[in-house]
Order: sequence, then C-alpha cells, then structure tokens
Amino acid sequence: MKICVIGFGEFGQFLSKTFVRQGHSVIAASRSDYRKEAASLGVSYCSLKEIASHDVELDVDVILLAVSILSFCQVLHSLPQKILENRLIVDVLSVKAHPKTSMLAYLPPSSCILCTHPMFGPVSARDGWDGQRMQFERVRIHTGQGLEERCSKFLQIFFMEGCVMVEMPCEQHDDYAANSQFVTHLTGRVLGQLKNFDPTPIDTQGFRTLLGLRESYDQPSGDDLFDGMYVYNSSARNKIAEMRSALDAVEARLLSRRDQVLRKQVT
Ligand code: NAP
Repeated sequence: MKICVIGFGEFGQFLSKTFVRQGHSVIAASRSDYRKEAASLGVSYCSLKEIASHDVELDVDVILLAVSILSFCQVLHSLPQKILENRLIVDVLSVKAHPKTSMLAYLPPSSCILCTHPMFGPVSARDGWDGQRMQFERVRIHTGQGLEERCSKFLQIFFMEGCVMVEMPCEQHDDYAANSQFVTHLTGRVLGQLKNFDPTPIDTQGFRTLLGLRESYDQPSGDDLFDGMYVYNSSARNKIAEMRSALDAVEARLLSRRDQVLRKQVT
C-alpha cells in the first residue's frame, strides 16, 4: 500500500519503520523538517504546508494522522478536501471520540474513516509488537471501489506483527482509557508533586514501582498526551474528582479507626 503519514514525530516515525519493513511505500508530512529522519527510514518527505497548498500530488491509498491530540483539529482542517476524497483516513490518537466526531464532521462523504489506538509505543514495544493490543473502530467504511479491502489490508499490518486486535466503539475506548491511561498518568504526576519522594536505603518493591511510575509519567515532554486526554476525554476529567473523593474516603476510615483505638487505650 501507499501510506501518507501526517505527523512525523516519535510515534509517526515508529509506525513508519514497520510499514516500510513490511514493504509498504511511505510518504511522511509534518510541521517540522524531518527530511533526514525520513531518508534514514526509507520514507519520502514533504512539508504539511506543501500538502495544504496543493504543492504535492498525493497518490496514496491511506492517509494516517499521527499528530498530537491538541493539534488534531487544526491539522485536519488544513488538509484540502480534494486529497481526502475516496481515501481511507486513519487516526492513531490516544483519545478516540474526539477524532471520530471531528473526522465525521470534516471529511468528505466519499472518504472512509478508521479510528485506531495502538496501545503501545516506542518504549513498551521496543522489542516488537507481538502481543500488544490494537483497538480500532471501522467508523465509516464504504463497500465497493476496494475501500473495504484497503481497510482490512491496513489492519492486517498490525495483525501480521502479532498484535491482539480489539474492535471496540471509540466511546467505550475512552471510558476504559480514563482508568488504564489517565489514572496511570495522573498518579505519576501526583507523585511528582510530593516533596522528598525519593529512593531510600530501605526501598521495597512496591515503592520502586511507584518511583518508576513517577519517572515514566511525570515528564514535561508527555504534556500533549496528558493534557489532550484531559481536554478531550470527559471520562478522564471525571477521574480527578473520583480520585479526590476516594482519598477523602480512605482518610475518613483511617480517622475513625484511630479514634476507636485511642478510645480503647483510655478506657
Ligand atoms: P505528540 O507530542 O503527541 O505528537 C507529536 C506530533 O504532533 C508531531 O508530528 C508534531 O509535528 C505534531 N504537532 C504537534 N503540534 C502541532 C501543530 N500545532 N501543528 C502541526 N503538527 C503538530 O507525540 P507522539 O508520541 O508522536 O504522538 C503522536 C500521536 O500518536 C498522538 O496523538 C498520540 O496520542 C498518539 N499515540 C502515541 C503513542 C506513543 O507511544 N507515543 C502511542 C499511541 C498513540 P512536528 O514534530 O512536525 O512539529
């Protein structure tokens, strides 16, 4: 297949490597200049501006959007309608209802929409994609003109690498991800706010796990993902209030236990 990857940051490059290895032809486009990185991966390159101003003739089967959550709408709306017609448009954002509704509203009716979230990245899948989860929803796939086959062929890329394919509505994904991703990131961030939360000579395995969580998720570079989940996943937003009342409930139980114990000591 001929695949155009829009957004050639960390994740766009990571996916492209496998696309190229499987024999697909990849052209990348991004805001910044990634000519060197693209050349080293065997990928052609043009700028997003060139696409937006019709300076490049895009002859591809699939357009894959791998930009940050917060820039998704801006980038989507910069793409000329003409290059989107009769194409399979795929996104890989870590939130799903947002790209689904945005693409349904903006893309021409002749285009097909596949929303996906590969639940792995350059670190967790550094040794390969085998056993990693790949969520997807065929949001709008037209029959005829080979578009259905194109969609299956695209999903096949992940299946062939050994991914566990999970077909699920975008809204349900966001509900689950509010726990599996947002609470995980949030915990890392909260631990990052604690003073003197550092390794000690008597660390336990549990404490090392918490330190690892803080190290992985309390990163300024992770801001676009964390902020994007908060802005565009309403279930994730609710988790902050839930965590706060959960902390209150735990403290209330402990206070009542302490009162009981102290009362017994006095009598
Ligand atoms: P990211 O920081 O979420 O996104 C970086 C990409 O967004 C770069 O290509 C960057 O373009 C582009 N971008 C940011 N702001 C922009 C703007 N205002 N206009 C145009 N382009 C803009 O990092 P990422 O890890 O590469 O993730 C890309 C997408 O994949 C995200 O939606 C993320 O949720 C999803 N995802 C990531 C992972 C992962 O493990 N990293 C896993 C699953 C899904 P330039 O670099 O050209 O400036």
